[in-house]
Amino acid sequence: MIIPNNLQRQFSLHADEYKRKACEILDSGWYILGKEVSLFEEEWAKYIGSKYCVGLASGLDALWISFRLLGIGANDEVIVCSNAYIACVMGITINGATPVFVEPDQYDNIDANKIENAITSKTKAILAVHLYGQSCDMTKIMDLAHKYNLKVVEDCAQSHGNHWEGKTVGTFGDIGCFSFYPSKGCGAFGDAGCIVTDNYDLARLFRAFRNYGSEKRYYNMMVGSNSRLDELQAGLLRVKLKYLDDMNIERCNIAKRYNEGINNRLIKKPLIRPGADSSWHQYVIHVPKYRDELIEHLKKHDIGSLIHYPIPPHLSEAYAYLGYKKGDFPIAEKYADEVLSLPMYNGMTSEEQSYVISVINEFLPGDKQ
Ligand SMILES: *Cc1c(COP(=O)(O)O)cnc(C)c1O
Repeated sequence: MIIPNNLQRQFSLHADEYKRKACEILDSGWYILGKEVSLFEEEWAKYIGSKYCVGLASGLDALWISFRLLGIGANDEVIVCSNAYIACVMGITINGATPVFVEPDQYDNIDANKIENAITSKTKAILAVHLYGQSCDMTKIMDLAHKYNLKVVEDCAQSHGNHWEGKTVGTFGDIGCFSFYPSKGCGAFGDAGCIVTDNYDLARLFRAFRNYGSEKRYYNMMVGSNSRLDELQAGLLRVKLKYLDDMNIERCNIAKRYNEGINNRLIKKPLIRPGADSSWHQYVIHVPKYRDELIEHLKKHDIGSLIHYPIPPHLSEAYAYLGYKKGDFPIAEKYADEVLSLPMYNGMTSEEQSYVISVINEFLPGDKQ
């Protein structure tokens, strides 16, 4: 059995509807900033539970434009988890701000108990990354933000529709950032992203910034960028959004199967923080020993797996200028050496799930057959 782990299955479930929508938009002759974008923004804001949504070209744009519009740049510090995806950190540094890394806890998200120690007179914001589909401890993060008067930006790129204590992530901080990269929960068919906020003035700034700083044609109130969500992606996202809850439930059920079925003493299954739920963007196990052997074992059985992420940002060549070295963030470094994402995709059959479980359970590298 070959485990595909691609997006074909998900597409094929509603292929006719996507094709109809795409043709409708192609036929309309209107491709940028039209009714599909406006309707998607309304529908996404409603789904998340925010007042405003502004469609953008990518998740990275959502992040860096957020910090730009919050006025956070050179000489400012932003707190972020040390096991973040590199794009989270780039969202901070594109504006010249400095990332200050805080180690994750056993839930693979920022350890909120360690944030206070990292706050300095230069700290302006916390970037809360809801990694792998699980929400951070937003109660502790918001308490600290209020105590120290910090902005909070939530990176919900991997968390489309999951909650912290019953409230949807993206609605806690000043701004919630989303990526609609094809593999994300509500994935587009190309690059796309958005922000959500309850702040009218901020939403207005985002609308102008994404369109060369213009609210009125050829009148530019500031230097902006081109970061528009296009009509085709917005229209296709509107179709996908109708099925998002179902897709999240489907992945939850796969995770449940994995949780119940996987039983191998070499493998630590993912833990969910009390108060959080997960949309299971990834099912990430920890394999403290023999990860390479497990990857090989899976490959031999035609099962793909991925490492999210093999190099923590502080050791990335891109961030050599920050001057960190191996050993500076030992938990993130350990996680980079032991995490492994198992196949998890919408349309995964029950037989495929059983196959992955049994191949994992029979893994025994000690034998070195
Ligand atoms: C995917 C992702 C991003 C970047 O989104 P793009 O749309 O690819 O620019 C940022 N942060 C996290 C956590 C992501 O998973």
